[in-house]
Amino acid sequence: MDYDGRYNKDQSLKCDCLLFDLDDTLYPFASGIAADIAKNIKDYMVHKLGVDESVSLELCILLYKQYGTTMAGLRAVGYQFDYDDFHSFVHGRLAYDKIKPDPVLRNILLSLPLRKIVFTNGDRIHASRALKRLGIEDCFERVVCFETLNPTSPALSDKLEIFDIMKHLAHPQPGVELPKSPILCKPSREAMLQALEVASINPHTTILFDDSFRNIEAAKQIGMRTVLVGTSERKKGADYALASLHNMKEALPELWEEAEKDEDVRNSSKVGIETSVIA
Ligand SMILES: [Mg+2]
Repeated sequence: MDYDGRYNKDQSLKCDCLLFDLDDTLYPFASGIAADIAKNIKDYMVHKLGVDESVSLELCILLYKQYGTTMAGLRAVGYQFDYDDFHSFVHGRLAYDKIKPDPVLRNILLSLPLRKIVFTNGDRIHASRALKRLGIEDCFERVVCFETLNPTSPALSDKLEIFDIMKHLAHPQPGVELPKSPILCKPSREAMLQALEVASINPHTTILFDDSFRNIEAAKQIGMRTVLVGTSERKKGADYALASLHNMKEALPELWEEAEKDEDVRNSSKVGIETSVIA
């Protein structure tokens, strides 16, 4: 299927929903939170899971690339840990005051009479804290987060068998496949489809804002329009690129134009009804 071709057909469809990633999208990469999260994940691997410190960074990156999140990759290759324990270690110690209130973004969001939903791989508490710091927690209909797609932490088994993914990728053995992760997260197609279903979102009338190009690619493949955030350089596969969400109105004026048109239609039908009642 030619997705670009399909997208062109969808261009004429109206947009009724905006889906926002959280980290490095609703707040900027420059906050430094992303670097703190990466450090905490690495520390968790070393101090809680017994990963050799000398390979922890390489393994962290490799699992992130293969599985969408390092956490999903750690579970896939056999590490046993409780999801809440991981999240409280990785996010619970963050200095959230690095995220600054963003009244400009708040005004932009409130000026758009469309459904607005957050879709993050992060956990519920992290999302809530970050959105509160930004001052935009009441701007969204709902937050689709880690717990939405992974409601329960599986029972931990005593058997610890770790699949050596670094060795496997360096020297793939015929017939040996990468283990699957029990964790659902972006950019997997399954995670995307499940998020759309739980929030009753039509991908063909939805725009995804995300700083991760692979999430953008995955969203595109299921028919969404896409905005790559954090760069003004558009890549093939992203419909728009925005250095910051503050530039939304300049880049996507049609969202406000559509909303105004809808408002006009609503007002004119109201006048019509009132006139006929008077007549
Ligand atoms: Mg992100």
